[in-house]
Amino acid sequence: MHQQEPLPRSLVRPVELYFVCPLKGKSYWTRDWEIAGELKVEENPPGTRRLKGKVSVTCPHCESRHVYATEELVCPLTQT
Ligand SMILES: [Zn+2]
Repeated sequence: MHQQEPLPRSLVRPVELYFVCPLKGKSYWTRDWEIAGELKVEENPPGTRRLKGKVSVTCPHCESRHVYATEELVCPLTQT
């Protein structure tokens, strides 16, 4: 099975994202996140695509809800 799977469509099937708990300072990976409010793609400057919006996550370390701006996230799909 060496066939490459197509990239997951992030809005349909959430990808695993990397977060840091602001209270405990610990990092974690989770796919248990959801979009908080509106998410939009901005092209500024043209050719550079940026996801603008917020996601909310239930933190496994302190079990409270954190909201992150997408600019702060390390997206495995857009990493260079
Ligand atoms: Zn936390």
